[in-house]
Amino acid sequence: MEHIITTYLQQHNFTHFDLKAVLFDMDGVLYDSMPAHDRSWQETVEEFNLQHEPNEFYMHEGRVGKSTIDILFQRNLHRNATEEEEQEIYARKTELFQLYNSGATIPGSKEMLEYIKKEGLTPVLVTGSGQPSLLDKLGTNFPGIFTPATMVTAFDVVHGKPHPEPFIMGLQKGGDLKPNQAIVIENAPLGIEAAAAAGIFTIAVNTGPLPNSILIEAGASLVYDSMNALVTVMPNLLKQMRTIYI
Ligand code: CA
Repeated sequence: MEHIITTYLQQHNFTHFDLKAVLFDMDGVLYDSMPAHDRSWQETVEEFNLQHEPNEFYMHEGRVGKSTIDILFQRNLHRNATEEEEQEIYARKTELFQLYNSGATIPGSKEMLEYIKKEGLTPVLVTGSGQPSLLDKLGTNFPGIFTPATMVTAFDVVHGKPHPEPFIMGLQKGGDLKPNQAIVIENAPLGIEAAAAAGIFTIAVNTGPLPNSILIEAGASLVYDSMNALVTVMPNLLKQMRTIYI
């Protein structure tokens, strides 16, 4: 772990971490919502006679809906979707998601958020989601953790993940921070790519079906198989990040 921390610092020209905030992705990190996203995407595109690939929607996770739909249209029909088609497909996907999503949280996510607060760090939400069915429940599931001032959602950014903009905005909302003043917890390749492009130390929790190697290739410095596994190592990780100087 020490080697991974020093490698990050060297590559980004920092002498040390000065941790102030932890930036949390939402789907697959705080909520166990990805199986419902995957199922609703699959059923929607099948209704519209579009072919999809195995695990495709886990690979697209974090991408804005319009962009995912255009990728499917380009591959199947060699053109982008019209605005009407996009709206119709996204409305159907949202309808099915609300039907299938249980609202369950990821085991360990509440403990992680509470631990981060106890350590004096600011939890910041950085999601590409615009789903009111989840965003509206954050205050109930994770009381006292996020405020509108510490949330970046689909409504705040021009460019979605894998563009770094959501995480750059997350640094601003965390208190005008530099990349070495935060860490990111993500679960998806495009989210990891976005966080790494923003220059932030990125930890992956692999809560889905993709192999760990895809998350490493996307730019994760560390990968854990569950949030509970990360909760266990977090005290040691913070201790090292607070003491290593190069
Ligand atoms: Ca995610």
